[in-house]
Amino acid sequence: MDLMEKVVSLCKRRGFVFPGSDIYGGLQGFWDYGPLGVEIKNNVKREWWKTIVYEREDVVGLDAAIIMNPQIWEASGHTASFTDPLVECKNCHHRFRIDQVENHCPDCGGELTDQKTFNLLTEVYLGSTEPKQKTYLRGEITQGVFVNFKNVINSTRQEIPFGIAQIGKAFRNEITPGNFTFRSREFEQMELEFFIKPGENEANKWFEYWKKQRLNWYTRLGIRKENLRFREHAPDERAHYARAAEDIEYNAPFGWKECEGIHNRGDWDLSRHKLTHNDFTPWVIETSGGVDRATLFFLIDSYSEVGDRVVLKLHPKLAPHKVAVFPLVSNKEALVTKAGEIYKNLKLNLELNPAWDDRGNIGKRYYAQDEIGTPWCVTIDYQTLEDDTVTVRDRDSASQERLPIPKLDTYFTTKLK
Ligand code: ATP
Repeated sequence: MDLMEKVVSLCKRRGFVFPGSDIYGGLQGFWDYGPLGVEIKNNVKREWWKTIVYEREDVVGLDAAIIMNPQIWEASGHTASFTDPLVECKNCHHRFRIDQVENHCPDCGGELTDQKTFNLLTEVYLGSTEPKQKTYLRGEITQGVFVNFKNVINSTRQEIPFGIAQIGKAFRNEITPGNFTFRSREFEQMELEFFIKPGENEANKWFEYWKKQRLNWYTRLGIRKENLRFREHAPDERAHYARAAEDIEYNAPFGWKECEGIHNRGDWDLSRHKLTHNDFTPWVIETSGGVDRATLFFLIDSYSEVGDRVVLKLHPKLAPHKVAVFPLVSNKEALVTKAGEIYKNLKLNLELNPAWDDRGNIGKRYYAQDEIGTPWCVTIDYQTLEDDTVTVRDRDSASQERLPIPKLDTYFTTKLK
């Protein structure tokens, strides 16, 4: 199996990610996050929000509606320009995005048509009377921020430069979804729109600033530096709104791929919505990342093997469970009771989300936790009953140390900081 197959199989086996609508044969481009997947994805979003909103004074949050007045999509240029170039096979009629095929159909070798443009917005119809009102599921979460620009500036004490952060679902009728969750039709974005005074110099300064901040975020959370790079968009590749665009790319098993885009949107959006501030139209530097792509790349980057078993070396802040608690054996009541007390106590610390396991032998339990990235395991043994100490085993070094029970909570909290 190649690395990607191994990650996909681990995701299904251990409950990170399942194919959407699985029991009905699936639906192309849709995925469901299982019990462990929702935890890592929430951790990704929480870490992003902490860095972008809580650690700063110049950024506030927003959660706008997914469905908006269709005039917004006219004004933003999406109904006209949010398109991908599509080609169709003249033989089997399969359709592809042009940059994903060579000269002939990858499925049957047939001849391809000339390219057409294909709009990626997903249409929805509202109301009970005909004709129903047509609008769209948002194709990017960004527009919800721009149309609330006045609301936010009038209701907070922010002054330019300042930013509005948002995390939420976006929908694109992708021509060829694929590479697991990398290209889906429903996905989540985490975006910052940072409003600045107009002008190229100011824009360049903030563009460089945000590029650096965003790259650091990924490496701080454990992605290896050599697996990340910037790639500048060629002028003909840029989205209709962008004056400048660079992607943060990840060295995925299926090639260097976009993980996040940093864009200088200039005054495109606010002008289109006819919004100004103190007689000028602010410019916008945007950082637009995919929650699903980031989650996937964190999983891939942390995947490692020791012999024939998997160790997921996730950053502790991203791990679904920070700790697992085991009684040495499951048939000694005193041990199970003691372990149960420790487990309940650790559960009170909401950052830890401890796991419990009393099946099989200790070695197997360690391995099962390694596979899902749990950084620390606590074992309660006969010595615990005598001196109130436990063994703490570290995922990456496999080393063990003996700690007094009352110190456990502080020990993990300090490690997590
Ligand atoms: P691509 O070139 O891969 O189609 P894009 O340039 O259209 O991506 P943007 O419009 O810049 O992407 O969107 C910002 C971010 O949203 C991307 O960096 C990516 O992380 C995420 N994203 C975009 N499209 C998808 C998708 N179909 N599935 C999952 N995530 C996506």
